[in-house]
Amino acid sequence: MPAFGFTEVHEMFRREVRNFAQKELAPGAKERAKQESMSIEIVKSIGDMGLLGIGLPEEYGGQPGDWVSLGVAVEEMARASFCEALLPLFPHLFQIALGLTLKEIQQEWVPPLIRGETIGAFANTEPECGSEAAAIRTRAVKDGNSYLISGEKTAATLCMQAKAVLLTANTNPAIGAKGVSFFLVPLNLPGIEKSAYIHTGCKPLGSASIALDNVRVPAEYLIGEEGKGFRLVVAQFDFWRVILCLMAVGAAGTTLDETIEYSKQRVAFGQPIAKWEGVSFEIAECATLLDAARMLCYRTLWMRDQGLPHAKEASMAKWWVPETCVRIIQRCMIIFGHVGYSEEYPIEQRLRDVLGMQIADGTPQIQKIVIAREILGREFLPY
Ligand SMILES: Cc1cc2nc3c(=O)[nH]c(=O)nc-3n(C[C@H](O)[C@H](O)[C@H](O)COP(=O)(O)OP(=O)(O)OC[C@H]3O[C@@H](n4cnc5c(N)ncnc54)[C@H](O)[C@@H]3O)c2cc1C
Repeated sequence: MPAFGFTEVHEMFRREVRNFAQKELAPGAKERAKQESMSIEIVKSIGDMGLLGIGLPEEYGGQPGDWVSLGVAVEEMARASFCEALLPLFPHLFQIALGLTLKEIQQEWVPPLIRGETIGAFANTEPECGSEAAAIRTRAVKDGNSYLISGEKTAATLCMQAKAVLLTANTNPAIGAKGVSFFLVPLNLPGIEKSAYIHTGCKPLGSASIALDNVRVPAEYLIGEEGKGFRLVVAQFDFWRVILCLMAVGAAGTTLDETIEYSKQRVAFGQPIAKWEGVSFEIAECATLLDAARMLCYRTLWMRDQGLPHAKEASMAKWWVPETCVRIIQRCMIIFGHVGYSEEYPIEQRLRDVLGMQIADGTPQIQKIVIAREILGREFLPY
């Protein structure tokens, strides 16, 4: 099997995105991270740069690029400003999902997402279920040329600002998980009430609970067939997990760089703290952990580019990388001393943001279930 390595094209692309991100996203990032919504101008500038359409159809405004390139863009954006780095995920998700619907529906929703003119969201989690994704209670009942959807979703990232959400609802509760269907739901429909759910970090992304009371959704907004759409889309989700990991890698990488500089300047006991092995070995260990984390992510995206199965590798990354990045940022915070544990520096902010990546899209326990299933076989699942 050929080995993974960045090509010259990837390296050039990284330099381009780094220039853009450091010029356009880094200034004001600390202040924006305290806001409870995304800056529309910033979203638009990311769209104008083409970063919301990497690998998406050119007819919708996308540009060529492989999955590794998408990862490079996300890591570089997260180095400059954490939350905006999530944005490239949603045009992909909508393109994959709406690819199962009518062409007109794709044309209506995907190009504005790629241009950064609109925001989309995804909602499966409910107050009563998260890890057990198929145990949702939201129902969709066919009524003529539409479906009536009722239920409650929660923890839906970006949903306070989104125009539409991709949402799960059960169309046939009698058959349980096999009845879970997937819908496009414009968020201005009558019967929808949104309220903000305040998470510890990722403030500008925001999180919403959505109450749906007999929301009438056109039948053509069903994605794929009844009971099948969600599974078809979820089968593509492995890249989602790696994207969250690369956001964590970006945040940890920039924190480590700042820590290296700080340790050369800060003097204690008559010399820069970088000369004390207690500090330099911490930096050496963090750099090693970060390299391993980064490689787990890019290897998985590269496997996806090669068309190789990568569910196990995506879950290995999703279990280990956010946890490792939390540890790196926390160790850097200690090297900064009390100023690291303050709002003067962005370290506490990044710690809160990256902690969320351990839970979003499946906790470490759920990832280990996937890894074990891939290694041992489905017959050794505990359920
Ligand atoms: C920052 C952030 C963003 C998010 N964005 C979205 C979004 O956009 N859309 C969306 O739908 N959801 C979103 N979520 C929700 C997220 O997907 C869920 O929180 C997650 O899947 C866990 O579900 P839960 O919180 O209900 O925990 P539960 O499922 O109640 O789990 C509680 C604990 O039990 C453990 N556990 C559960 N089952 C098992 C098992 N079989 N074996 C071992 N341990 C188990 C879990 O690991 C966890 O530690 C987001 C969450 C966060 C933090």
